[in-house]
Amino acid sequence: MSDVAVDALSEDEFRARCREFLDEHAVGFQLDGDADSGGLKRLEAGRTFQNALADNGLAGLTYPKELGGQGLSKDHERWWREEYADYPNMTFEFTISHGMCLPMLAEYGTDDQKSAYLADNIRGDKIWCQMFSEPGAGSDVASLQTRAIRDGDTWVLNGQKVWTTLAHVSDYGVVIARTDPEVAKHAGISMFVVPMDAEGVEVRPINQIDGGSHFNEIFFTDVSIPAENLLGDLNNGWNMATAMLMYERVAIGSGATAGIKHDRADSLIEEATKRGLIDNATLRQKLMKIYIKETCHSMVSMRTRAEMQAGKTPGPGGSIGKLFSTLIMNEVRDVSMEIVGASGVAWEGDHGGSWQRAALTGLQGGIAGGTNEIQKNIIGDRVLGLPRDISVDKGIPFKDLKVGTQID
Ligand SMILES: Cc1cc2nc3c(=O)[nH]c(=O)nc-3n(C[C@H](O)[C@H](O)[C@H](O)COP(=O)(O)OP(=O)(O)OC[C@H]3O[C@@H](n4cnc5c(N)ncnc54)[C@H](O)[C@@H]3O)c2cc1C
Repeated sequence: MSDVAVDALSEDEFRARCREFLDEHAVGFQLDGDADSGGLKRLEAGRTFQNALADNGLAGLTYPKELGGQGLSKDHERWWREEYADYPNMTFEFTISHGMCLPMLAEYGTDDQKSAYLADNIRGDKIWCQMFSEPGAGSDVASLQTRAIRDGDTWVLNGQKVWTTLAHVSDYGVVIARTDPEVAKHAGISMFVVPMDAEGVEVRPINQIDGGSHFNEIFFTDVSIPAENLLGDLNNGWNMATAMLMYERVAIGSGATAGIKHDRADSLIEEATKRGLIDNATLRQKLMKIYIKETCHSMVSMRTRAEMQAGKTPGPGGSIGKLFSTLIMNEVRDVSMEIVGASGVAWEGDHGGSWQRAALTGLQGGIAGGTNEIQKNIIGDRVLGLPRDISVDKGIPFKDLKVGTQID
């Protein structure tokens, strides 16, 4: 690769530099038939890719140079995404670390926190997870019961989180915990940075129906973290959690790349052709519908990304892309099972069970990052201006609510 600094390149030269890098490094995953249940092989390949990206001056394009980024413009970010769209996504396992935790640290972190965490995160050397959901607080995450109590120069955490993606390989987590139970539930929450190797943090893997083991239960027992691990203002955790969830919906629903994509339709068409089914008129219609929806979804994602590029923090519109992507996923599941027919029930069948796994994995989409029903509530309330969902606990101090294990 040429020695000319990335920031000295014209648009065409920058795009060419990206493609040169991607030709060499975006080579997909060599899993050798391994289902990679915990995501470890994909994560290692992603880390190697991310390290190389940083070494070639292409990681963290819009973040400041002194914090491990490149200090480049949002146009550079778009050009990169557009080029990356034509290659395998090597950084899927960094969706939470880079798509959610990194922007939160950059937006709300103190100078010391940014210096401590950003560069390692951008290089992919440290992985971050998001610890919001609890057994009694998923859609209604503001009902969370994990407590953080101030003790001198430390905060002491006790409680349980669940469904924490990649906690088993993460170095740090962004956690929300209750810091004031005397006020209404949304008002007494704060956000913290927790090192996953802190004493008292226990990570227990959850085994999934698709054979994977991607997420975990987390138990905090008297976990003591320094006072300066508070992220943002005390008791402002709810506003920050909402901002992070918006980043999440964009990260999940709008993908890591840009441009028009219809990968799922393409692979279904390939499979139908291989099985001699492609001339079936009804199937062709279903395939075409998926193709069109994926194309429309790409355009919605491009609009969301363009708004972010224009400086807007992602808003409720991100829910549209997220909801759309899971509805497409449901159709893909049904059509794929129609194509593979009876072999759809065989675990170790064609492609080592990949269609079967995908059918089961696809169920997650309508739950992760907020369920479809919650996305519809957000779109109805905050995009379309319809009346809000009824709230029966408004203004009541959290300690007086009957939620989770507070129920007698
Ligand atoms: C693959 C995957 C990865 C995840 N990763 C993480 C992670 O890394 N970190 C993390 O913190 N969490 C994570 N989660 C958790 C996820 O955010 C929650 O599962 C989700 O918010 C739903 O919460 P719940 O499971 O408690 O379901 P519940 O909230 O109990 O919902 C049960 C059902 O009730 C419906 N419902 C609830 N409230 C309403 C309402 N007001 N209106 C209409 N319908 C409603 C829901 O739509 C759903 O169908 C992950 C989940 C999945 C599936």
